[in-house]
Amino acid sequence: MKHANKHPAKGEAIVYWMRMEDLRVRDNKALALASAQAQRDSVPLLVLFVLSPQDYEAHDRGARRIDFTLRNLQCIRSTLAEKHVPLYTTSHTPRATLPDYVLSLMKEWKATMLFANMEYEVDELRRDIKLSELAKEDGGITCTFVHDRCIIAPGKVHTKDGRGYTVYSPFLRSWIPHLEPKGKGDPIACAPEVAANSASVREHKVYGPLFDNTVPEKVKGFTMDDPEERERIRICWPAGEDAAKEILERFLSTMSRSSQMGAVSPLSEGAKEPTKNPSKGSRIGKYKDERDRLDADTTSRLSPYLAAGVISARACVRATTALTASKKIDVSRDTGIGRWNQEVAWRDFYNHVLALFPRVSMGRPFQEKMAGVVWESENRDAHLQAWKEGRTGVPIVDAGMRQANTMGWMHNRVRMITAMYLTKDLMIDWRLGEKYFMETLIDGDLASNNGGWQWSASTGVDAAPYFRIFNPYTQSHKVDPVGEYIRTFVPELAKVRGDEIHKPPMGMADKLGYPRPLVEHDQARLRAIRRYEKPGQE
Ligand code: FAD
Repeated sequence: MKHANKHPAKGEAIVYWMRMEDLRVRDNKALALASAQAQRDSVPLLVLFVLSPQDYEAHDRGARRIDFTLRNLQCIRSTLAEKHVPLYTTSHTPRATLPDYVLSLMKEWKATMLFANMEYEVDELRRDIKLSELAKEDGGITCTFVHDRCIIAPGKVHTKDGRGYTVYSPFLRSWIPHLEPKGKGDPIACAPEVAANSASVREHKVYGPLFDNTVPEKVKGFTMDDPEERERIRICWPAGEDAAKEILERFLSTMSRSSQMGAVSPLSEGAKEPTKNPSKGSRIGKYKDERDRLDADTTSRLSPYLAAGVISARACVRATTALTASKKIDVSRDTGIGRWNQEVAWRDFYNHVLALFPRVSMGRPFQEKMAGVVWESENRDAHLQAWKEGRTGVPIVDAGMRQANTMGWMHNRVRMITAMYLTKDLMIDWRLGEKYFMETLIDGDLASNNGGWQWSASTGVDAAPYFRIFNPYTQSHKVDPVGEYIRTFVPELAKVRGDEIHKPPMGMADKLGYPRPLVEHDQARLRAIRRYEKPGQE
């Protein structure tokens, strides 16, 4: 077997392979490295994106996320075209031969170096290893994979004995010192800008035609067939780096959301904007105290952009430093900015867990002892369907699920409430809920989704203890005190006033055409505790 050339012969082009979590030109490490190499070698930079429907199927990707990907690729194509850099979008199946296909493109383009940001899912890691091996055998091509998904790369933060953290608080304590600039490296520094290719590349006989390649409008099997849904999702979640930047700036700014939202509002036309935040100041300033409220616009709503890499997590944290007096990173529990940065750290945490404990992405509970929990089989399909449709008869759960179905997004607290309800009240396997969220949410992200589901199901790292089961009615009072959120998404209850909005009496629910609860919470709670206490027993 031949080995890779340490210094491969200078090729005629450099390739950056963009992936689904990388959808940006600014502040992109692998792209910046590829660009710098192309400048050094005085050869053109080419950007490749390969659609892989079999991967989307394997990862339960939904039509909304795929549509968002394509829309972002359109924006990227225009940004790159201004720099005379072509974006070549193509599709490939079967997924098993993707590495061979990428290698064949490299050869066709006479490129000897490929750069990409790492993906931590098992199948994707295997794919990249195979590509590296093929490149090694070939002898003429070098592949460079770098860490760019997290602020601090997996493996850098570890316990004293070198293992990955499985509890968030000590993870956070170790993570914080890594944010400090050391030597030449500042972990939140922006990656260098992408340089322009010479305009003459457009005349090149091989590379010129790549500029004619367009981004497809859809991927078969992953389309939103309902035009109204397509329009609504597109209004809620505009594509592109500028849109992401604007959403971040609005979250950080003191101007009220409603005065600035305009056409880029992430709230759907179908969904009324919940009660305006009554107090003054920026949303990030109030984040510490108000972030759990569902009836106000309290969080950034950046998750679709972070999940798809339209904005880097670094850029988010970097932007918050400008708001602090010290111009340093605030990660304290006592301020809105600090609390928000701690939430961004949860994203790093779950990605580290995914990279270091790959079984979690393979359908296994992190806590193996929980593999034996007996899930409900009677009524399972009917109950699962009612949960998906927001017809469980528990208003806060139904509002959450209907928000997911309408907007493709949910607030964190309502994700926890709906997930806990599915796994504890209905005793339905968390993997079915995890799959539905991936298919439905525009921010579907394997690491955070799996982390959130395993937390709610008490099977994961740092999970909710199995005996601490959310009472959805108590939660409803806390996070939506006057029921404005419920009224927004459950129109049958729009006219209900007072506390009854949280738990409408049977007679009232019947009259309004609202379903009765599928299960009685107190009994369901005892059943869940019994089954979790002794996995394997009913
Ligand atoms: P903000 O409160 O503004 O937070 C800023 C960013 O920090 C978020 O955009 C996100 O990137 C990160 N973040 C915040 N909270 C968490 C968290 N608990 N875990 C990981 N990252 C976090 N997040 C996803 O991005 N994709 C998912 O598929 C996903 N599935 C989830 C499933 C369940 C059952 C649960 C409980 C949580 C899930 N989350 C997921 C995490 C969290 O709910 C969302 O990131 C958050 O609600 C997004 O809203 P935001 O952008 O306004 O968040």
